[in-house]
Amino acid sequence: MSWAWRVARIRGVDVNVHATFVIFLVWIALASHARGAPPEATIATVLFVVAIFTSVLLHEFGHVVVAQHFNVGTRRITLLPIGGVAELERMPERPREELLVTLAGPAVNVVLGLFLYAVLQGTGREVVVPATGLFGEGHYLARLFWMQVTLVVFNAIPAFPMDGGRVLRALLAMRIGFARATRASAAVGQAIALGFAFLGMFGNPMLLFIGLFVWIGAHTERLGAETRVAIEGVSSRDAAEVSIMILGEADSLALAARRLLAGAQRDFPVADRAGEMVGVLTRDQLIAALRDSGGQGRVGEAMTRPVMVASATAPLSDVLARMQQAASRVAVLTEGGTVVGVVTAENVAELVMIRRALAEYDAAHTV
Ligand SMILES: [Zn+2]
Repeated sequence: MSWAWRVARIRGVDVNVHATFVIFLVWIALASHARGAPPEATIATVLFVVAIFTSVLLHEFGHVVVAQHFNVGTRRITLLPIGGVAELERMPERPREELLVTLAGPAVNVVLGLFLYAVLQGTGREVVVPATGLFGEGHYLARLFWMQVTLVVFNAIPAFPMDGGRVLRALLAMRIGFARATRASAAVGQAIALGFAFLGMFGNPMLLFIGLFVWIGAHTERLGAETRVAIEGVSSRDAAEVSIMILGEADSLALAARRLLAGAQRDFPVADRAGEMVGVLTRDQLIAALRDSGGQGRVGEAMTRPVMVASATAPLSDVLARMQQAASRVAVLTEGGTVVGVVTAENVAELVMIRRALAEYDAAHTV
């Protein structure tokens, strides 16, 4: 995710703060100031928002720690004004594991809530719902307690991207399999999104925004699941572009441009003099380099290095996971030291379309 800055690294996971979150903090401070609040009150409000996001961060680490227990790493955690996102490298295959990873997040808020409740009781404070809202009056810890309750309730909504959607999917997957469970839970999520949008039109417009966010969540989850099902059991060779041209590091950009025009290939593996794969030149890089250095520029100066190399027999899902992790558009496939093809994001998208069409044909022609 771009527009995000790394602020910490905890348990090997980068914690990023998105620019919109910083804008949100500034907006909260300015709004408080504009209401004529004294500077102490403005600082207290900003600190309260920071405390909320610390709760969200701990919630995300609930997911991260249990995922690590199942040997699933996390790429990064990003804090956004709408909450936190922990990007796991993958979801555990077994529904029971996905269920535990998902429940661990809200469980953290339950523990924090119980702790805050105990402290409030111990100091003889009231734990009633603050009449003026979470950002209104009332003791700081009491408002923070209600924030934990809100986080648990919000995540109990059975719609992606909330944890409740994932819990629903995992429970259904135990009975009807991953693909059907995702379709069913995405449909539930979209129905809920419409409900939010409907309420938003007559009441709080914030609900319209949440409805949109839930609708997109259901859509994204269904796409991801379709890809995962479509590439299951496929080797990377089956998705590869195989009649490819390889450029040399010392080749001119003019030669690369002729190769680009000569065929459908857009991303070119680049070899050094010894025939070792050293980089990849994409179409966009080639065009940008032609603009900067003209046709006499060298491929070696315009390409990205190093290139991701994978075995042609490796499962496509593994290669794709590595590509996503390295944010690489291209993987070069080799077999016995020879380059046999490349896998690109476009290949994978085409494979998903083909497999989905064939699955639809099969579904229509089985009795
Ligand atoms: Zn969560």
